[in-house]
Amino acid sequence: MINETFLNHLKPVELEFIQAFIYKLTSDKITLDTTNSENIESTVSRCPHCGSFHFVKNGFNKKHRQKYLCRDCGKIFSDTTNTIFSHTRSHYHTWTTFIACELNQMTLEQEVVATGKSKTTCFHMRHKLYAAIGAHIRNTLLKGIVKMDSTFTGINLKGMKAKNMPRISKVRGKSKTDTNRKHKRGINSHKVCIVTAIDEWDTMLLEIAGNGAESMEKYQKYVERFDKDCTIVSDGKQAILEFASNNQFQKDTIRPKPNQKNYTSRNGNSLGEVNQLHQEFKQMIKHYHGVSIRHLQHYLDWLVFRKQMKYQIRAEARKTKAYMLAMKGSVSFVTKDICSFELPINVLTLYQN
Ligand SMILES: [Zn+2]
Repeated sequence: MINETFLNHLKPVELEFIQAFIYKLTSDKITLDTTNSENIESTVSRCPHCGSFHFVKNGFNKKHRQKYLCRDCGKIFSDTTNTIFSHTRSHYHTWTTFIACELNQMTLEQEVVATGKSKTTCFHMRHKLYAAIGAHIRNTLLKGIVKMDSTFTGINLKGMKAKNMPRISKVRGKSKTDTNRKHKRGINSHKVCIVTAIDEWDTMLLEIAGNGAESMEKYQKYVERFDKDCTIVSDGKQAILEFASNNQFQKDTIRPKPNQKNYTSRNGNSLGEVNQLHQEFKQMIKHYHGVSIRHLQHYLDWLVFRKQMKYQIRAEARKTKAYMLAMKGSVSFVTKDICSFELPINVLTLYQN
């Protein structure tokens, strides 16, 4: 596989030699008819459904692509099963154009214009892309100095059918309503808690941890994502301090003194990057005129990915890099299920109380 490391190791003369061929090859191989399957490995190493190595060839599909039968789970698959390209008729150019649109945070309407595909197709492509990339961004451990905090957002039920919509149980009588309101101040259970962490290499964690105030347990859900030798920077919130202590992480706490303007810890760390990410999250919600709680984690994943790309990859290479990462990611749902993804928090019980 060609990657940056491989190219970096080439000698100047070798690079020039390759460059001489590359223009011709590019124009020969990349045409309007280029398909996505030309880009993925045509040899299958394991069953995408159960991971078994025990499978046999099983004829060809309508597009003359090899089909396989898994001897363990009995399912039939091909080299595009569970990839972003399964059940898609879109060509290579459509996908790369679409990815470019997504990297530029375009709306579905703008993507329809750019790709010539329907709004439904664009919606499906968006969620397949986000799912494939989500798997990729969860692959790297947070190491070294890790800055942590949480942010909150309301529960958005956009797209939910009226008959399924939960309602806050009404309390009759004026005085009762007033006392009810008093209890609703501050961070109540009708807020979604999003835990955030960023390390010194810009690896990020941005996850819906549940509803209500932050707690040690909410952070603990993601402990697997932290390197055991990391240092947790926080502004001293109890939940984060407990999380760090419980897992024997080192702590670096920001405790602003009365006359001090800059909020930094003893070691000079601040929560600037975390606050910036929270701000970008709020802007994103506004940009899309609200995001349904059902799909919010997908959008958070894409926000993290776009930010990492900006730090790590030159603008010219971002589109194809994103394509290469996305085609390797696993997409375990079919398009008809996108609108019925399980909700990350139990909205129904929440509204009954
Ligand atoms: Zn299988």
